[in-house]
Amino acid sequence: MTKYAKEILDIINASSDHLTAEEIFLKLKKKNSKVVLATIYNNLNTLVKNGSVRQIAISGGSDRYDKTVRHDHMICAKCGKISDFTFNDLTRKITEQSGHKILSYDLKISYICDDCNNIETD
Ligand SMILES: [Zn+2]
Ligand SMILES: [Zn+2]
Repeated sequence: MTKYAKEILDIINASSDHLTAEEIFLKLKKKNSKVVLATIYNNLNTLVKNGSVRQIAISGGSDRYDKTVRHDHMICAKCGKISDFTFNDLTRKITEQSGHKILSYDLKISYICDDCNNIETD
């Protein structure tokens, strides 16, 4: 693993913010002024491919990067905020129902977050 890959992985694992590549870039730039955005993208691709980092595609927004420890996501349909939740592990149920041994699944639940709900009722 390259020095940058290691630092990017550390940034992602230390954050609960579901960072975009640009946000990771800005954090890394504080320590390594010479780093360029292309380096971030290259390393993120490698980290996603080798399973060290989870990539979350957001419709109409930038991809987010997240730690791989098993958890699920609830995404606010209004403000786009992503919150971590850990629901019951569905791996066994899906395996039974699909008849295939599954490698992983990606649960994205759309909802309206408390902040946005409060704006509506005010
Ligand atoms: Zn919201
Ligand atoms: Zn997450």
